[in-house]
Parts: sequence; structure tokens; C-alpha cells
Amino acid sequence: MYYADQNKTYYPNFYSQDERFRLIANNPVAGAKFFKMMVDLFLKHVLGINSKNRGLYGDTSGYYGTVEQQGRLTLHLHMLLWIANSLTPQEVRDRLLDPTSDFQTRMVQYLESVHMGEFTTGTMEQVQSVLEKEAALHPNRIPSTLTLPKAAPEQCITHHNTQDNTCKKCQASLTWWEQFKTIVDEILFKSNRHKCHSGCTDPKYNSCKARFPRDVFVETAINPETGSLNIKKGEAWLNTFTDILTYLMRCNTDVTSLLSGTAIKSTVAYVTDYITKTPLKTHTMFEAIKTVFNRNSEFINGNLSCQEKTRKLMIQIVNTLTVQGEVGGPMACMYLLGHPDHYTSHMFRPFFWKAFVHEANKSWEQPQLEDSGDVMMDKVILHKVNGNVIGLSPVMDYLMRPTIFKDMCLYDWIRLITKRKMSKSEKSRIKYTSESDNDMDVDSLTEDDAMDVDDVLSHSDDMAMVDDPLDCNYFPEGKRNGKLQKVIQFLKGHPQWSTHTFTVSDESAGKVPCFVGGTIPRPDSGDRGEYCLAMLTLFRPWRSGLDLKLEGESWEDAFHGYKFTQRQQDIMKFFNIRYECNEMQ
Ligand SMILES: [Zn+2]
Ligand SMILES: [Zn+2]
Repeated sequence: MYYADQNKTYYPNFYSQDERFRLIANNPVAGAKFFKMMVDLFLKHVLGINSKNRGLYGDTSGYYGTVEQQGRLTLHLHMLLWIANSLTPQEVRDRLLDPTSDFQTRMVQYLESVHMGEFTTGTMEQVQSVLEKEAALHPNRIPSTLTLPKAAPEQCITHHNTQDNTCKKCQASLTWWEQFKTIVDEILFKSNRHKCHSGCTDPKYNSCKARFPRDVFVETAINPETGSLNIKKGEAWLNTFTDILTYLMRCNTDVTSLLSGTAIKSTVAYVTDYITKTPLKTHTMFEAIKTVFNRNSEFINGNLSCQEKTRKLMIQIVNTLTVQGEVGGPMACMYLLGHPDHYTSHMFRPFFWKAFVHEANKSWEQPQLEDSGDVMMDKVILHKVNGNVIGLSPVMDYLMRPTIFKDMCLYDWIRLITKRKMSKSEKSRIKYTSESDNDMDVDSLTEDDAMDVDDVLSHSDDMAMVDDPLDCNYFPEGKRNGKLQKVIQFLKGHPQWSTHTFTVSDESAGKVPCFVGGTIPRPDSGDRGEYCLAMLTLFRPWRSGLDLKLEGESWEDAFHGYKFTQRQQDIMKFFNIRYECNEMQ
């Protein structure tokens, strides 16, 4: 209301519901601004990102959230949260079933504190009757959904854990928590209850598409056979939530702990795919097209020319689809304000991986008929340097990477290395003669520095350098212990040998490669050789495809013969989760 209104100073002014709707509908910028403020506050104070306090759910190791518009066009966010040091569902299961450990008790305690499913002060009916009585007694009372949260009083250190009835600090704390419970229940009642409506009812089965009412569990129980966990949930008409989050956000928030591989996979697919989804779902499109046909049955059967009928139908279909795909005011404002449409802790880097695999395979293929047309072309960017046109490609960058990175696999190269222009001082530190560089033959120089296969094998155990490239004695600013460091350059013959150098990120700032241009081959189906070739291309350092296997060796044998690190094996395992996620949908 403050963002939408004309007033410069903030004072609580509780307009009627109708006035509130009018104000916010006329000012979608306010809605977008307020939404961003709430997300930023959530990230900082609840997840503990860039903050002194720890996260409400534990230390946050990563998050990814996508902004959506709801039916009424207001913005909302679906966010996945990764908690540092958390276990996989399988590990959780194994430990839950271990009778000798207190893991079970502690896990249940943790889950019940963040994943709640019932009112605290009574049943839904009791909460309702208390709220109705309160409204009758104090008709002017402002509902908690319109007020700001009150900070908790300072904790009493003297009576920590004991509580003393005569102590003022203890009393203040008790009162605050009592109010907290009442307020949380009020907000839940007003904004978290599911009420079935025409939109959620499936007429065919006469059931709710949102799966309400939900199953109720009197107490948290572990199935000793399967290790599956049903967390206590008393209210069938509520989604699960965290009370503190409800208290802070004062609106509808749902919090779910993803306790099974299935739940994790389908949610991951939903949230991560949303960013690439078109606003139009396929079934909505077909429905819209069908409506156009139904509406026009008369003129379709009429005596207009076929061409004329088609033209009319096409125009109507395009119009209908345009209306369906409309972006709402708040979302349009979000983009205009330059606010993000997704929030994440990680940086992503597009990775056109196929060109690399193609390059690796090329060295082993029989020379094909020239220009057969189906050869995948490597993407080459043309640059003009000193009046000469040169071709650059990410593949060439990797193949001609500096000697200092010779043991770095492609996957790490994409994650950790950024090419950049040399600074003036860096340029002055390298000796170069541009004339001779440009004359050099790229291919002959690649071979100059290419390692033979034995060399690669002898280095394969020595992955420390790959894990921490800063061990390479290289510092971006060029100075270490007061001594000038050598400027890192491409191998001689690379067109940017004399102009570009590199910035190396450490692990924590590494980017996540975003595989573009086709899906990665899978280990469990499709061409086995293709899979092995792709994995070797990614994880075994190479300058030529010849480094990746021996003459006469199959890609599969080369794959099994190569010692991948544990981390690399984990990453390969994760690649496949992507498919499993999609199969869940
Ligand atoms: Zn006290
Ligand atoms: Zn329903």
C-alpha cells in the first residue's frame, strides 16, 4: 500500500478491502517492488544469505527460485533450498532405521519444527470460533495479515530453559510466544486454508485437483519396512508450513521437506523447468484452438473459398493464443524495473558441449566425403584484429589452453576459467611480435604442446591442480610476494595469444555449466560409445581427441580404463537425475 500510494512518509493506513484492490490494480509497479523487497528480506533474514545470522532451516548451501504470476496476476515464488551437509534420501533412510543411534529422534525434532501441518491453539473449528468472537468484540481490530511482525523480546539468560514466573524478562518472552501462536493461527486460517472451488474440482471423479483433504497423521511415524517417514499432520485442509515464516511473511507460505527421491525429482523438474517454459501450456493451446473451431462451425461449413476460411480461422486462433499468453501487469513491471525472474545462489554458464565432443571424435573418424553437409559445424566467431579477420571458437580456446592448465578437464575449464583482455601492464609484460604470431599455423602448434597419451595417464591421479587451480601459482593481479608473475597466455598460435589472459575462480565462485544444444547421452540407454566419448571429453584433460583413447581401443574401454575422481563420478550420477526428474512428470 505504501509503494502504491502517493504519500511520502509511511504510516499504517488501513483502507477497506475494495480500496486496497483498486490501489494495487492501478499500480502494478508497487506490486512488483513489494514482491522483490519480500524476496530479498526472505533471502537475507530467513535463509541467512549475506547475513550474520544462520538460516532458519540450517546453513544454506544453495537456492533456486522462479517467479510466477498467479491467476490473479500477483507474483509468487517457488524456491528449492539446499541445506549444507544434508544427506541424500537414501542416507536419511538408512540412518532412520539404525536402532542404535539417536538420529531418528533428532531428525523428527528438526522436521516437526520446520514442516508443520496443523493449528497450534486448537482445531480449525476452535480457531474459527475464537476469531469470530474476537471480531464481534472488537469490530475495528486490524487483522494480523495487515500488520507487521513484532520482534521477539530479549531472551532471559538467567532462567534459560527454566522460566521463572516472577522474572519480568521471562514473562515478556512467554507473552510474546502466546501472541505468536495466536497470530500464526489467524494468518493460517485467513491465508493457508484450502477451500475447494470450481477451479480445483475434477468433475469426472468429483475430487480436488490440489489433493485436498490431505492425509492426517496423529504423530510422526517411520515405516520400519521401507524407512519412509510420515510427519505429524493434524489438519487435512492445510498445506505444510513453518510457523516462524508465516509470522514473518504474514501471507500464504508453504514449506515442504522433500523426503523421497520421487518428491525431490518431480519438484526439481517443476521449478527448474519453469524458467524455460512458455506461458502457454500445450493443452491450453489445443483447447483454445478447439474453441475457435466450435465457435465458427457455421462458416467452416459455409460456401467461402477454402483459402478464405483458413485465413479467417488462422487470425482468430492467433488472437486467442495471444490473449492466453498475456503477461500480467505486475510481471511486466517486474521486467521493466529490471528485477530478476529467478533468484539463485549460483552462477550459470552456457556450455555448447556438442562441439567439443565432435572435435574429440573427429581425430578418430575416417576422413569423410568432403562437405557431406551433415557434419556439425563448430561455432566460430569472427574478430577483426589489426586489420586481419580471425576465427575464434570455445573449442579452440580449450584445446590451446595455457600450459599451466594442461591437466584441467573441460568441465572445470568451463566452470573456473574466464578469458579476458589483458590490461596495459600485462601487455607490457609479455614480449610479442604480432607479425610472426599471425603467420603461425594453428594445427602445427597444437601438436607442439600436445601431450601423448602416456603423459595424460601419468597425470591423471594428480587431480589436485584441477580441484584448486590457484595452486598453479597464478594470481590475477600478477603479483605474489611482491614478485611479478608471468602473464598466463594461450599456447602460441592462438589468435588471442598476445591480447588475452585469464581469470581463475576458486571453487566457491565456480560457475555451473548449463548444457545447451541437445541433451547429454545417458549411461543406461542409447549408444554406449557415445556416452563414454562424451564423459571422457568432459572429464579427461585433452588437447586432441587422440589423447582420450588408445589406437584400437573402444570408447567404452577407454572410459573404464580412466580413473575418474569421486567428484566426477558424482557429477555423472547427477547428470542422469535430470532424466529421472523428467520421467516423474
Ligand atoms: Zn528470567
Ligand atoms: Zn480443492
